[in-house]
Amino acid sequence: MLETKILIVSPVNPERNIINFAAEVLHLGGLVAFPTETVYGLGADAFNPDAVKKVFEAKGRPADNPLIVHIAEYDQLEELTDHIPQVGKILAEAFWPGPLTLVVKSSKFVPDVITAGLETVAIRMPDNKVALELIKALNSPIVGPSANISGRPSPTLAQHVYDDLNGKINLILDAGPTHIGLESTVMDVSTQPPLILRFGGLVRERIEQLIGEVQTSNDEKMLRRSPGTMHRHYSPEAKVVLIERGDTLAFEQLYKKYSDEGKKVGFIVYSITVSSIIKSSYGKIIPNDIENYSRLLFQMLRDLDKLEIDVILVESVEEKGLGKAMMDRLTKASHQ
Ligand code: AMP
Ligand code: MG
Repeated sequence: MLETKILIVSPVNPERNIINFAAEVLHLGGLVAFPTETVYGLGADAFNPDAVKKVFEAKGRPADNPLIVHIAEYDQLEELTDHIPQVGKILAEAFWPGPLTLVVKSSKFVPDVITAGLETVAIRMPDNKVALELIKALNSPIVGPSANISGRPSPTLAQHVYDDLNGKINLILDAGPTHIGLESTVMDVSTQPPLILRFGGLVRERIEQLIGEVQTSNDEKMLRRSPGTMHRHYSPEAKVVLIERGDTLAFEQLYKKYSDEGKKVGFIVYSITVSSIIKSSYGKIIPNDIENYSRLLFQMLRDLDKLEIDVILVESVEEKGLGKAMMDRLTKASHQ
């Protein structure tokens, strides 16, 4: 068991001594959880294959699920890839730093353990001062999958990282809650046409405004290009049951059905009407605002797990904008 240290760091003006200490831990091959604008990441020096291996071990992540490499400066792209296609340059210029990951052909310097043996590498520049300063202080890109046990909801608070990885990593940098609360959008720009492999914090509509219509990896053959999308994901311990938007009747019926079976039922809704009896049980009624909903989703799933809920009834959202990424996570969580 490692002793996992937690250091509070300012998200606005990250303290230099804390950043330098964290960079030193990475430099020595250690693991540091750090905030990004999407979710907390689990960092290791990308050019230290032994350290990267430890990321897989700590998370219990299957070795065939490649990692995203985080950079802080455009110059760092040169070590990772020999060629960024024009469309990749346009997207990076428009959306970096931000919640967009670009998959490009990898250079020979990228350790195989990162790419799971693929010929491509996934790269992004996070929009978070602590993350950027950490990468700059190490003077090397860092890998940064979500800092949770594989399969569990991604961490949006340092506490979530601690709950999952205490004793398995060296350090957690706590800069408060993450802004977006969902992972980055992953786009493959290594082939024509560019393809969205995973919906996430950057919405499809904004990408299409810039580069025109893009394709998505809906069929299984395409999904294989992004191995991570095939694995079990985003799941709380409880069973997740999706309810149609605004379907109060179905909500009440299912609530009764599971309660009658002796289950402890929780809920997450925004527009469904919740009777006062149900309201007094275990649930969250959130503002009808997709940004709030997505920011809080993983946290709510974790909170309900702590109450040892058996079934969580979750109200669906419209599959547009951030709703697309949310429904992707929720559908996967409900398929366990
Ligand atoms: P995570 O870091 O857990 O948010 O997941 C990273 C996502 O990026 C997973 O869905 C991976 O499959 C995907 N990914 C990482 N590297 C590649 C790559 N070289 N090609 C395709 N998808 C990738
Ligand atoms: Mg993850």
